[in-house]
Amino acid sequence: MNDCIFCRIINKEIPKEFDFESDSLVVFPDINPSAELHLLIVPKNHIIGMADLTRNHGDLLVEIYNVVNKLVKQNNLEENFYRVVVNGGKAQHVPHLHFHLLGGQWKRMV
Ligand code: AMP
Repeated sequence: MNDCIFCRIINKEIPKEFDFESDSLVVFPDINPSAELHLLIVPKNHIIGMADLTRNHGDLLVEIYNVVNKLVKQNNLEENFYRVVVNGGKAQHVPHLHFHLLGGQWKRMV
C-alpha cells in the first residue's frame, strides 16, 4: 500500500537497515525505542492487524516466532527480561501487522 509507512520501508522507498530479511518478513529497530532492545518484526504482506489473520497465515506466524527466538538468543535475552507485544485497536498506531520484541531495560509501555 502506497501510504503505509511499513510497506514503504519493506519496498525500500524509505531507507532502513534490516536486522533480518526473508521472503515473508523483515526486522528493523523501532524508531522510538521503548526498551534497551526494541525490534519490529513485520510481515511483508500488508496484513492490517491481528483480526485479519486466518489459518492461511499459520506458516507465517511460526516463522515470526522462530525469528523472535533467534533474535532473543542473538541478543542474549534468554536469561533477561523480554516480551513480544502485538498492539490492536486504538493501541495500534501503524495499521500494518507487526510484533514488538522488547528486551533489557524498559523505558515505557509500547
Ligand atoms: P504500534 O503502536 O504497535 O502500531 O507501534 C508502531 C511502532 O512503529 C511505534 O513503536 C513506532 O515508534 C514505530 N515506528 C513508526 N514509524 C517508524 C519508522 N519509520 N521506523 C521504525 N519504527 C517506526
